[in-house]
Amino acid sequence: MKNKAEEFVIGLEIHLALNTKSKLFCGCSTNISGVEPNSLCCPTCLGLPGSKPRVNKRAIDFGIMVAKALNCEINPRMFFSRKSYFYPDMPKNFQISQYELPLAKGGYLKISEKKIGIRRIQIEEDPGRLIHVGGDITSAEYVLVDYNRSGIPLLEIVTEPDFTSTGEVKEFLSKLSMILQYLGAYDPKKEASMRIDANISMGGGRVEVKNITGFKAVESALSYEIIRQRNIMRRGGKVVRETRHFDPVSNTTRSLRAKEMEEDYGFILDTDLAEVAIDEKWIKDLENKIPELPDERVRRFVEEYKISERNAKVIVYTDKAFADFFEKCCEIYDKPTQVANWMVTDLLKSLNYNKISIDESEVEPEGFVEILKMIDEGKISGRIGKELVKRYVASGKNPREIVEEEDLTVLRGREELEEVVKKVLKENKNAVEDYRKGNKKAIEFLIGKALAKTGGRADPKLLREILLEFLK
Ligand SMILES: [Zn+2]
Repeated sequence: MKNKAEEFVIGLEIHLALNTKSKLFCGCSTNISGVEPNSLCCPTCLGLPGSKPRVNKRAIDFGIMVAKALNCEINPRMFFSRKSYFYPDMPKNFQISQYELPLAKGGYLKISEKKIGIRRIQIEEDPGRLIHVGGDITSAEYVLVDYNRSGIPLLEIVTEPDFTSTGEVKEFLSKLSMILQYLGAYDPKKEASMRIDANISMGGGRVEVKNITGFKAVESALSYEIIRQRNIMRRGGKVVRETRHFDPVSNTTRSLRAKEMEEDYGFILDTDLAEVAIDEKWIKDLENKIPELPDERVRRFVEEYKISERNAKVIVYTDKAFADFFEKCCEIYDKPTQVANWMVTDLLKSLNYNKISIDESEVEPEGFVEILKMIDEGKISGRIGKELVKRYVASGKNPREIVEEEDLTVLRGREELEEVVKKVLKENKNAVEDYRKGNKKAIEFLIGKALAKTGGRADPKLLREILLEFLK
């Protein structure tokens, strides 16, 4: 049973790689995937003496847009500080970050019926990447360092400790990720583009779990940590304040070190970088560029296309391309409710089964709509339609072609169907008996059998008619 002392709150620090072409303080490319280690570095992102960092305006633009979308107040003065620490991922022994004044503060993001407070948003540079060979962070034989990632702009978003369940964390992160994608500020397909530190406080103790990568891992890390802390308290122990590391292989967390306080880092102003003034005009110009965001899109889908709110949410929150796909289908086929129903059931199921997104598949609005049209025309049965969605997602082959080539059109010949029904009645004497004894549901079973015999091509209405006649 849950008692009061076991209640917990969670706060997040989310690091998102901003989708800029070049790094935060130099012209090196951020396109590091599949590139030879340490090949995209220069004196600035390595922090060599005499290097001259200059801030990437696009990163600040993205930061301002995200801050506005999250209802934050933007500080008119922006400057950077050096966060000093000694670690192999930082060759210059400090990370350029923000401390005294963040880019923005005091916002919120609404999830379900709850607002999650945003404490601060700041811009900082990513450190290099450590590769632990022969083990993980606590057991590796040796460590390699790749500085390609060093200097990539990160947006750090710090929430208030407003989460009271892992479900809320998941909903928040999915919504946040979606908003940033709509702003073009973030690409979830880039490796480790979202990294999270989570603070969990229960019964007075506060534990920070560091470097959780991606959505799924957050849920596992938090679930493990909540159970671990509960167990300590049930045994009468006390949760100690510490920093822990999440191991995605074993889905557990391990103690790294006693939690450092902010003061443990020597923060000093970075005098190599000039202060940036963010005036009203800059903010207004960017505000005007903010596109329709996911929640507004859901509302519009309900109003404009008259689809259910549930369907609108599934379509919008699956991903942006999925919602674009819906609108393209509606442009060429005037039955939004049908499009929505088929998208959130059969299409989504097939995409998930094949582990691809709509833009990774070969499915086009034209081909998808063809399936619905063929059902409208009475050319194929709904059951064949479902089959076609599966095959279209798996092979990319045009559904109308599949129907023509394999002759999947609806069987209309009454005589042909009567033959099928006769056979089914003969083979399923028990069901026939049941039906005659008053179990009217037995007819559904018989229809199913008859449909299967025709490979799903029969018109179920006609089948029912014939069956009823024969059963009289
Ligand atoms: Zn560089």
